[in-house]
Amino acid sequence: MFQVTREINFCYGHRLLDYEGKCSRLHGHNGHVLITLEASGLDGQGMVVDFSEIKRVVQGWVDEELDHRMILRRDDPAVAVLTKLGEPLFLMDVNPTAENLARLIHDHARSRGFPVVEVQFWETPYCRAAYRAE
Ligand SMILES: [Zn+2]
Repeated sequence: MFQVTREINFCYGHRLLDYEGKCSRLHGHNGHVLITLEASGLDGQGMVVDFSEIKRVVQGWVDEELDHRMILRRDDPAVAVLTKLGEPLFLMDVNPTAENLARLIHDHARSRGFPVVEVQFWETPYCRAAYRAE
């Protein structure tokens, strides 16, 4: 089995609802992501997937949709205020935890046809969540 891993970094703001702790306040993180793809065989170029293709498609999407945005749960009362101020938001049906952001990036990469097996997501240099497809 072959594996390739690409690193993606981006900045985002968020807060968690129904949660008591520092992450219940609007604040930001420097997200650090490792996305791992796996294949039993290689393509004609000897690759699982070209690293530059992962960058173009997955990092391109992260840069476009998540980077330097507030990532909030859809029912967060801050959504109305920030929308009024013209702030760019990314809304989720679930709390924007490291676990759910790992899954979000996993699902997006999968939807674009990449054989992703795991996404690791560091919310801080000390805290990492991972999502793996069943
Ligand atoms: Zn946080």
